[in-house]
Amino acid sequence: MQMTTSYSETTDRFLELENEYSAHNYHPIPVVLSKGEGVHVWDVDGKKYYDFLSGYSALNQGHRHPEIMASLIQQAQKLTLTSRAFCNDQFGAFAQYITTYFGYNRVLPMNSGVEAVETAIKLCRRWGYSVKGIPENKARIIVCAGNFHGRTSTVISFSSDPASYAGFGPYMPGFDVIPYNDLAALAEALQNKEVAGFLVEPIQGEAGVVVPDEGYLKTAAQYCKDARVLFMADEIQTGLGRTGKMLACDHEMVRPDVLILGKALSGGVLPVSAVLADDEIMLTIKPGEHGSTYGGNPLACAIAITSLRVIRDEHMTENAAIQGAYLRKGIESLHSPFIETVRGKGLLNAIVIRHPNPEAAWDVCLELKENGLLAKPTHGDKIRFAPPLTITRVQMDECLEIIADGLSILK
Ligand code: PLP
Repeated sequence: MQMTTSYSETTDRFLELENEYSAHNYHPIPVVLSKGEGVHVWDVDGKKYYDFLSGYSALNQGHRHPEIMASLIQQAQKLTLTSRAFCNDQFGAFAQYITTYFGYNRVLPMNSGVEAVETAIKLCRRWGYSVKGIPENKARIIVCAGNFHGRTSTVISFSSDPASYAGFGPYMPGFDVIPYNDLAALAEALQNKEVAGFLVEPIQGEAGVVVPDEGYLKTAAQYCKDARVLFMADEIQTGLGRTGKMLACDHEMVRPDVLILGKALSGGVLPVSAVLADDEIMLTIKPGEHGSTYGGNPLACAIAITSLRVIRDEHMTENAAIQGAYLRKGIESLHSPFIETVRGKGLLNAIVIRHPNPEAAWDVCLELKENGLLAKPTHGDKIRFAPPLTITRVQMDECLEIIADGLSILK
């Protein structure tokens, strides 16, 4: 099995530019995109594709959702940035909208996902000292092996993936890593009275869409409550309808003490993230103790309100549940000997490829690209299938055909 992919001269030129002038911190599928609309993207040669990555789940609402675009343009013509040194007429409205939407007292806005994770860590430690009474500089946070919470030096300090942390030490102390989906390990780690929080992805996205056992989140949240430890859900990838519920925690009716959102909060327009919590936690941070120049900017706020509204108005969450189940069933019915597992919830899915060639998943993705569907392998043998939540049944049928063809190159 040897893939031969040829590129147009135009594509080649853009690939060369990236290769020559940018850091080599990504290994992209060799496609150069210049337009997106809904579930589709087009490359510089005009070829059309289904987007099955959705900007790592930042494009739940699809590319250039018309109402989000209208908010972008309207707000951009009025005011884009004030900093939080001054108030603006969008931030308060956004704060009210998002806290009501998710049922929390307060929101702290940031930009990228990892900044929101950092914010949650700081809030948790501060709460640990000023409310729980943990001795200064002793607070610990429990995290899970296989996690992905972003790329800052604190966050990679508790990664178990050498690709994330190796060669970037020294590492930030104060984190206890336990196996994912292991309640006994959590119970044991919670014995330590200096634990302030448990930070968890309700489904581990980057690890390859690892879905924990039913009941794990509910019991974990209860254990945390009993131990007076904050249950902090990183829903940056799983939230906002992606898994067929507004939050992945909703599948088990768990309300996190600290809710971390990002990605699709702006419908793929600009980096917008947020941390939600109640007064006892959020008010431990006082003026001047945390912030961000762009966090809460009026452009982001206007876009975020619309991004949240259209998910609800257009029943994207419900569609994710329906189309996701259909996708998994469709892939299972292929009975491919090269698929070890199909797993996921809603439209956050992955297949695990079983093949002696370690490049098999990459080769399948190249073949999918040739046939008009873009997906990217993660951790070698896993391919994530996460299209925008607006995908229709007819489109999904077409995608299933492309996937069947793509898998047929494996011998
Ligand atoms: N947390 C989770 C669960 C993620 O999946 C990601 C990104 O993939 C992040 C945090 C980091 O978000 P960002 O890349 O916006 O910093």
